[in-house]
Amino acid sequence: MSDRIDHLLTETRRFAPPEELAGASATSAELYQRAGADRLGFWAEQARELQWETPFTEVLDWQPPHARWFHDGSLNVAVNCLDRHVEAGNGDRVAFHWEGEPGDRRTLTYADMTAEVKRLANVLTSLGVEAGDRVAIYLPMLPEAVAAMLACARIGAVHTAVFGGFSPSNLRGRIDDAGATLVITTDGAWRKGKVFPLKPTVDEALREPGHGVTNVLVVRRGENEIDWVDGRDVWYHEAMADAEAEHVAEAFPAEHPLFILYTSGTTGKPKGILHTSAGYLTQTAFTHRHVFDLKPESDVYWCTADIGWVTGHSYIVYGPMANGTTQVMHEGTFDTPTPERPWQIIQRYGVTVFYTAPTAIRTFMKLGRQHTQSSDLSSLRVLGTVGEPINPEAWMWYRDVVGGGTTPVMDTWWQTETGAIMISGLASVTTLKPGSAQVPIPGIEIDVVDEAGEPVGDGDGGLLVVTSPWPSMLRTIWGDDDRYRETYWQKFGDRYFAGDGARKDDDGEIWLLGRVDDVMNVSGHRLSTAEIESSLVAHDGVAEAAVVGAVDATTGQAVVAFVILKQSASRENTVEEAEQLLRQHVATDIGAIARPRQVFIVPDLPKTRSGKIMRRLLRDLAEGRDLGDTTTLADQTVVDAIRSQLR
Ligand code: ATP
Ligand code: MG
Repeated sequence: MSDRIDHLLTETRRFAPPEELAGASATSAELYQRAGADRLGFWAEQARELQWETPFTEVLDWQPPHARWFHDGSLNVAVNCLDRHVEAGNGDRVAFHWEGEPGDRRTLTYADMTAEVKRLANVLTSLGVEAGDRVAIYLPMLPEAVAAMLACARIGAVHTAVFGGFSPSNLRGRIDDAGATLVITTDGAWRKGKVFPLKPTVDEALREPGHGVTNVLVVRRGENEIDWVDGRDVWYHEAMADAEAEHVAEAFPAEHPLFILYTSGTTGKPKGILHTSAGYLTQTAFTHRHVFDLKPESDVYWCTADIGWVTGHSYIVYGPMANGTTQVMHEGTFDTPTPERPWQIIQRYGVTVFYTAPTAIRTFMKLGRQHTQSSDLSSLRVLGTVGEPINPEAWMWYRDVVGGGTTPVMDTWWQTETGAIMISGLASVTTLKPGSAQVPIPGIEIDVVDEAGEPVGDGDGGLLVVTSPWPSMLRTIWGDDDRYRETYWQKFGDRYFAGDGARKDDDGEIWLLGRVDDVMNVSGHRLSTAEIESSLVAHDGVAEAAVVGAVDATTGQAVVAFVILKQSASRENTVEEAEQLLRQHVATDIGAIARPRQVFIVPDLPKTRSGKIMRRLLRDLAEGRDLGDTTTLADQTVVDAIRSQLR
């Protein structure tokens, strides 16, 4: 990694935790010590926070690349997320403040959710679902989606959630790959002021025979007209009314499969990531508590991720509910009915901990701070972000404008595969650096290595690896263990290869640089997309930027940038002038080598359903190629709009 350009390392701003939080730091700080002294003992202690039917005696059985955690113990995941809290006297605690897009609201306590899940477990059993069977959940942000996941967990069925926006063929591919026998969906749900139908997508996905689905359970929400297949389709509310209220949960082994989740598909064909029970629940609950300094008795926590993405699994359903957290959940989009919506929700419920994605933060920046400042956000005390590298300027904006200049912003690095947060500070302990994901959480061992697998020194960059197994790690790729070995373990033996580039700063702390596939090579210089994007976003007029390396006859690859301007940006310059200005800005800020060959001002960027920039499509556009696989693209019209701008 010679000839690097260490632009991000010039970031020198530092933010210590505010005093109220730092007060709690003694216990959190001790976690590093405890985990450092006895890593497996530390994880065993965390696992014992759960309620076990049979206590485990062995912590880890590691046969690279296959790990079993706590494997001779048994528990029920749903009982840990529900019944346990009711039995502890917290049944009246709100589990969800739910807001529909048209403005309807529901409040569900832990007792309510427990009752719902018990009944639903009986419904699933009556539909023939048994432990180990797969259930596809094709639902948007409804409390029933949470109930569906937990009802599966309660009876040992394996759920596979599919984004509500995926097409019939995407859905069918996942149903077939997982071998699902039941699909849980809804007639339709509200999105951008309209009912968006979902049931027709399921009908279309199941039209061709050859699948194993025997029933479709349909939640009524949109009240839109739908077709009905007698004998196959079942209304959720009717089945629930007929079901027994009581359900005695059985315990399952710690390694019983919990869910399969197909990765978001930023880079190519989705992989069915398999997670199991106790280790996954241990690490999601632990990280949720300590990264966000969570106080279940008093916090109101809002994670804005979709339930169909891993963040929804780990940080709406499993981690927070294992901790007995009060949450906010919303249907629809942030800008409907108005861009004030997220801020009004925070004010209405007194949200204290807010966890969102860089893509949302950049959209807030684009719209301008007046929307954010329309509401009282003083209840917020900790902010979080996940999904992509966060540019230092977006981090600062988030802290200042949303967090009133005082809240810690926790940048959390993890993946569908890791199941839970791996790199992040702890809100009550860490002195934060804007743009850095900071350090491995206690009990996690991570390094940055060169192509030969040698650890790089402080100040140097390379490939991110996890050097020892962790409780919430993926166990395999569903039905394709060879692909599991090849993708993650072939490169560095028994170290997990994450596929992301990273750099250690002089303190040994970690800065993510984007996907390894996205690193550019310009005249022999390795440049990271994250650094040039951060430089562009640091310009006053820029809300969001995506950078790719396009083939270039003289330099091998050339930097091509796609930029979205803030709505408040000056309109005095012509587009050509603005593009020149930004090219020059990067050259001055980072160095001539990083000067983009082209800058395109665009209205929008191609993103996955989970809001991640699809750089490979931009590379295809910049090189004038046909687009590769676009099945996970959220909005097809965006690429057409960009194409029309490429001169
Ligand atoms: P696919 O693997 O199918 O291409 P994906 O990698 O986008 O899709 P996810 O598991 O949802 O699917 O995302 C994990 C990736 O997101 C990480 O590998 C990393 O590239 C990026 N990421 C997540 N959080 C952060 C973060 N805090 N900082 C930098 N990058 C992050
Ligand atoms: Mg990935």
